[in-house]
Amino acid sequence: MKYYSTNGNAPVADLHKAVVKGLAEDRGLYMPQQIKHLPKAFFDNIHDMEFQDIAYNVASAFFGEDIDLDALQDIVYDTLRFDCPVVEVSDSIYALELFHGPTLAFKDVGARFMARLLQYFIRMEGKSDLVNVLVATSGDTGSAVANGFLGVEGIHVYVLYPKGKVSPIQECQFTTLGQNITAVEVDGVFDDCQRLVKSAFMDDELNKHMKLTSANSINVARFLPQAFYYFNAYARMKALGKAGELVVCVPSGNFGNICAALFGHEMGLPVKRFIAANNANDVFYNYLQTGQYEPKPSVQTLANAMDVGDPSNFARIYDLYKGSHERISSLISGATYTDDQIRQTMRQCYEATGYVLDPHGACGYQALADGLQEGEVGVFCETAHPAKFKEKVDDILGIDVEIPERLAAFMRGEKQSVPMTKEFGDFKQYLLQQ
Ligand SMILES: *Cc1c(COP(=O)(O)O)cnc(C)c1O
Repeated sequence: MKYYSTNGNAPVADLHKAVVKGLAEDRGLYMPQQIKHLPKAFFDNIHDMEFQDIAYNVASAFFGEDIDLDALQDIVYDTLRFDCPVVEVSDSIYALELFHGPTLAFKDVGARFMARLLQYFIRMEGKSDLVNVLVATSGDTGSAVANGFLGVEGIHVYVLYPKGKVSPIQECQFTTLGQNITAVEVDGVFDDCQRLVKSAFMDDELNKHMKLTSANSINVARFLPQAFYYFNAYARMKALGKAGELVVCVPSGNFGNICAALFGHEMGLPVKRFIAANNANDVFYNYLQTGQYEPKPSVQTLANAMDVGDPSNFARIYDLYKGSHERISSLISGATYTDDQIRQTMRQCYEATGYVLDPHGACGYQALADGLQEGEVGVFCETAHPAKFKEKVDDILGIDVEIPERLAAFMRGEKQSVPMTKEFGDFKQYLLQQ
């Protein structure tokens, strides 16, 4: 499979190059030239299949031309050593719990998949140059990537995160690991971290000095595997006899996760329509209303993994539908919620159903509660375990969320990070010394 750039000014790349480069030469995002439709028989039988087997079928359609199928199966099975259940929350609203991975984040899937894929290519090449992964995070990406790559030979990871703007548990998940993981604490906001990473990739001197690659949701190996979740959601809902008019709602920040869902839809996944749920960062919501895409600085909210003012994957969604606002806005609707509304939703849902939402999932749940039509059944992604935002959730609901042992283990580690300004010159100097 060849991958082209959304900016249309870069040569097409094979999978290996697309994964290693992350971003195309013209700063565009890579898109597969073709999205294969999965056969009818697959959808007919999907409700009898396990998550891993469903995922392997989807992965083969995306990556089967470029990787040995046995190796691909290995990678998929190694990545998905956990479940992604749908849980009934109310009559027509189901939570797709994407937080049963190693760091309790949905990003675990893409991160692990990418680490194993990169390792596969490095081994095939037989070269020993260290590959350096740069990743900007507003919280969850950093922990997922750091843990996905932890101990993977031949790869060093730098996690850039905004000082004081990630939860203490999230911070522990990427600052306590050591080994091949370095945490860089940037005196700025998430958009500054993302800018530093993007600038590093465009800097000739740095690229001569070290082999750089990205692991943000812009990387095809990170975002595409998230499509697995949506096929599994459909399968589990079909098994319940509830998949006839399925609405999928994705709490969105950089729009990688919903983009993967849309790729699934292009492969034939029978979802009626999608909802992108946002916090107060409403750039996509405004685009849906007006047809104008106007990025703006992110604002800090309770659902901080969605605090993005210029979602990278918008370019992919725009490209997927040939820039047609009509097509995009007829398939996807939007919703945007203030912190007060998020708190209220969490309380109402907990009182009415007993289900504990985290602030991100709360946006998804509320968008379904507000937007579902007669006859539709909705699935929203619960994108984080509530314990990852324990202080907030405890405070809002007046409960004491239990911390799973997997998380507690991170909290016992010793925090280590490199302080950094938001000036690219400083970051570059630091990398040149490595
Ligand atoms: C990353 C993240 C999101 C947003 O996902 P995108 O793919 O960036 O849209 C939502 N919720 C949580 C908890 C996350 O970690």
